[in-house]
Amino acid sequence: MRAMLEQYREVAPRGTVEFLRQLGQRVEGKRMLHVNSTRQGGGVAEILQRLVPLLEELGVKTRWEVMTGSDLFYRTTKSFHNALQGTKQRITAEMYEAYLECNRENAKRLDLEADVAMIHDPQPAALIEARPEGSTWIWRCHIDVSTPQRSVWHFLRPYLVRYDAAIVSLPKFAQRLPIPQFLVYPSIDPLSDKNRDLTPEEVDQILARLGVPRDKPILLQVSRFDRFKDPVGVVEAYRLVKKSHDCRLVLAGGTATDDPEGAEVLAEVQEAAGADSNVHLLLLPPTANLEINALQQAATIVFQKSTREGFGLTVAEALWKGKPVIGGETGGITVQIIPGATGYTVNSPEGAAFYAKRLLNEPDRMAAMGRQGKEYARHRFLITRHLQDYLGLMIHLG
Ligand code: UDP
Repeated sequence: MRAMLEQYREVAPRGTVEFLRQLGQRVEGKRMLHVNSTRQGGGVAEILQRLVPLLEELGVKTRWEVMTGSDLFYRTTKSFHNALQGTKQRITAEMYEAYLECNRENAKRLDLEADVAMIHDPQPAALIEARPEGSTWIWRCHIDVSTPQRSVWHFLRPYLVRYDAAIVSLPKFAQRLPIPQFLVYPSIDPLSDKNRDLTPEEVDQILARLGVPRDKPILLQVSRFDRFKDPVGVVEAYRLVKKSHDCRLVLAGGTATDDPEGAEVLAEVQEAAGADSNVHLLLLPPTANLEINALQQAATIVFQKSTREGFGLTVAEALWKGKPVIGGETGGITVQIIPGATGYTVNSPEGAAFYAKRLLNEPDRMAAMGRQGKEYARHRFLITRHLQDYLGLMIHLG
């Protein structure tokens, strides 16, 4: 059972595994519960799949419960999600009732006994009504609730204030709540298929399979085809770079079939790209972790030119692969890119192109930045740091 944590010895900062074991001793035998609304899909589930067994290995008796609900419940929580992130939604009395009813049903069905319960995002937030005597409940908020639609916030707030603490992913995501709020950055798993080291041969093979030749520098952006990720701006930046540097552009994103807006954005990108054989639009299935990994490892410079962003895990992924990142000056990108040290933050295609050209002209600077970015990610954005934060919080909150 010890084996899993030991594997992180080679990738985490020195002393991390020992420190985690020491923290583990302080909470050994405590019962921790995580509740979210999906076992698979999305960043929250991805990180829990890994965190839960690691917490277990450290001696914390950890359970992960997943709430289930009707279609109306999921439609409601999707609207909550959008409303809390600032997009106005119409939410009916029937929808609010479905939310509460579903939380009540799940409270009966799920085993909520634990010393510390971490309740992820708004979907299960009202479970607090069924909180067992004597346990510590933490609301773990992964989304940006800094400018919520008032009505939805007012509906949820009475539940949230009953928690012992809240955790947000960025300082600016905090809301005014009369409970302690803590900052815990998300993280990536350096041993997963998306982030582990690949051999040069593996990278070559995968790129060949994807039809991306390795004859010139590769500029890459990995992201959903979403306007806020500004893929068209990336194509514009590439065109400006291309005037002086022969290079390829790879835009890798999900298949957009179930998302009408995604299909629209993809069409815009296709139009912007035209018939340029140096631009590669790759539509990857959700399981394409090795492909994304190989692309990030093969890239010369990684873009994440978002105009609005949550945390932006793709930035941490690229830093971890030793790549300088040019990213939009927004959201979590600004805590991951230290301008001039791990990459550059920009506000326009021209800005992105300017820094890309500068880096292409100075391979030494690019290599140094990549090394710095990797060390920065090692200390700040790996799952081992996430574990330290959670264990520290468990100790602090008793
Ligand atoms: N990703 C993926 N396939 C895609 C596009 C993105 O697997 O086609 C991954 C990407 O590697 C990252 C996550 O999805 O791990 C996106 O997280 P991020 O925080 O960057 O953006 P979000 O999509 O959550 O806004």
